[in-house]
Amino acid sequence: MQWSDFEPILNTPHYTPEDMAFIRRAFDFSQNAHRGQKRASGEPYFNHSAKTAYYVAELGLDAHTIAAAVLHDTLEDCDTPRATLAKEFGEEVAFLVESVSKLSKVRYRGLQRKVESLRKMFLAVAEDVRVVLIKLMDRLHNMETIRYLPKEKQGRIALETLEIFAPIAYRLGIGELKGKLEDLAFPIVHPDEHAWVQREVETRMLAGKEYLAGEVRPVLEEALRKESITPLGIDSRAKHLYSLWKKLLRNDMDIERITDLLAMRIIVRNIEECYQTLGIIHQLWKPLPGRIKDYIALPKPNGYRSLHTTVFAVGGHVTEFQIRTKEMHDEAEHGIAAHWAYAETGKPKSGGVVDKRMAWVHDLAEWQKEIGSAVEGEEFLESLKIDFFKDRIFVLTPKGEVIDLAEGATPIDFAYHIHSEIGDHMLGAKVNGKMVQFSHELKTGDTVHILTQKKQRPRSDWLSLAKTSVAKSKIRAALHREEERSFRLDPKLAKKHHRCELTITAQDRVGLLKDITAAFSFFRINIDNVFMNTQNKLYPVITVSFAGREEKQLDRLMTRVRGIKNVAEVTLKREK
Ligand code: MN
Repeated sequence: MQWSDFEPILNTPHYTPEDMAFIRRAFDFSQNAHRGQKRASGEPYFNHSAKTAYYVAELGLDAHTIAAAVLHDTLEDCDTPRATLAKEFGEEVAFLVESVSKLSKVRYRGLQRKVESLRKMFLAVAEDVRVVLIKLMDRLHNMETIRYLPKEKQGRIALETLEIFAPIAYRLGIGELKGKLEDLAFPIVHPDEHAWVQREVETRMLAGKEYLAGEVRPVLEEALRKESITPLGIDSRAKHLYSLWKKLLRNDMDIERITDLLAMRIIVRNIEECYQTLGIIHQLWKPLPGRIKDYIALPKPNGYRSLHTTVFAVGGHVTEFQIRTKEMHDEAEHGIAAHWAYAETGKPKSGGVVDKRMAWVHDLAEWQKEIGSAVEGEEFLESLKIDFFKDRIFVLTPKGEVIDLAEGATPIDFAYHIHSEIGDHMLGAKVNGKMVQFSHELKTGDTVHILTQKKQRPRSDWLSLAKTSVAKSKIRAALHREEERSFRLDPKLAKKHHRCELTITAQDRVGLLKDITAAFSFFRINIDNVFMNTQNKLYPVITVSFAGREEKQLDRLMTRVRGIKNVAEVTLKREK
C-alpha cells in the first residue's frame, strides 16, 4: 500500500495538515522498518500495518492512534526500540504501540472457563480503549488474509476471533465489525454449518433483495414523499451468516422462522422523523404484534439505537424495517469511536449515549457509581481508560493461559491457583524470566513460571506470604497432612505432640506477624492457625495454634518469641 492509496481516507476536515504530516511520517517510518519483510501471503509485511491503520482511520480516530496503528508491529517485528518511537512520535504513540505489543502475548487455549477472564485481561492489559481498537483492526486484517496460514493455526486464530475479539467489538458497540469478524471465522471454525447456511440463504437473499428494491422501496418512498420526509438513505442489509446460524440454533434450524434475513434500513434526519417514518410504515402495512422495538427510548447495553419493526409488506411478505438517524447509524458502525470521529472540535461529543455505552464497563467491574450525566473532553478520554480492575491482576502461565488473582498476590498464590500439587512442591519462581522471592508481588501481564521439586514441602511461613484465601487454606491443609505423615512415621513423635496455643500481646508494627511466624519456622514447627484480635488497636492479641513438641523446644520457642521487638507478653496453653 502506498501513501497515495492511504491519503484519501484522511481527506476530511477532521484531520489538520499537521495531523496529515504526522501520520505520513509514521507511514514512511514503518514502511522503512518493515522493508524486506513478507507476509505469509508473500506480499510486503508493511501492507498489513498500512491496512490496519486504514481501518483505524475509517473509524475516524485521532492522528496519534492512526500513527500508532501503522507502527503497531515495529517493536515486536523490527526490533525498533521503544525509545526511538517515543523520540520520533512522542510518548503517547510509544505507549499505544507498546500496549498493542503487550496484548499479543495473551494466548488463547480454548479453555471455556477462562474465556471471560481472558476478555477482561485483554481489556485490563490494554489500559486504553484505543489500544483495543487498534488490536481489533489488526485482527480484522489478519482474518482477511488467514487463508495463507497453515490449517492448524487458522483454527486457533479463528476460534479466538469468535470467542474473544468479536464479543469485545460488540461490547464496544461496533456491530459491523463484530459481524465481519464472525463471518470471517465462521467457515473455519464450523465449515459444514457454514456451507449449509450459505446454501440455504443464497437464493432467498437474492430473491429478497430484488423484492425489497423492486416492490417495497417504491411504495415506501412514495408514502414518505407525501409526508415530506426525504430519507438520507434507504438500503437493504443482509443478516450476517454467523448471527443467522446462531439464530437458527435457537429456532430449531427452521429458516422460515427467521424474519430478518434481510431488513430494510432507512436513515432519516432526526429522531422525530424516525417515529414519523415508523407511523407511515404501520399505515402502509400491518405490523406483527410484539415485534416493534424501540431501541431509541431503550438503547441496547452496548449503546445501539434504532427503531425496529416487522410488517406484512407488499404481497404479505414478512419484512423487517430499521429506522435511525445518521448519528445513530455511525454509532452502530463505529461504536465507541464515533464519539471522537464526528466532533467538530476534535473533542468527543457528550451526552446520554456516552453514558449508556460506558455501561458495559460498569457491569464488567461491578462499578456501581454513576458517571456524571455529561462527561466532557479530557474527562471523557479519562473515562475510556480501563482502570476498573484495580483490585484484580491478570498474569500468565508460560503457555499463555490467564490466571486471575487478587491484587498483591505472590508466586505462592499463583502456584496454588494452578494446582495444589504445584503449590505444595514449589521450589522457586521466575517472573518474566527472572528468579524472584516468594514474597514478590505480581503485576498484570507478568508471565510466571513455577519451579517444582518432588521433595519440596510447604512451609508455615508461606501462610504469611500468600495473599489469597484459596492458597492459604491449601497450605494449611498441606501442613496438616505433613504433620500427620510425620506422626505416622514416628509414633514416639506423635506421643510427644499436643495441641498448643501461644497467646502473644504486642505493640503492633509492620512485620510483627512475619517475625512471629519466622520464629516458628526456625524450629520447623508448623502453624495451624494465626488469629489476630485487634480490639485493642495499640496492643493486638495474637493467637497461634500449633502442634507442640518436647518441652525443651517449647521453652526455646517462648524465649525466641519474647525476644521479638514490641512483644509484651507471651503465654502458652496446651492440651493434656
Ligand atoms: Mn499486526
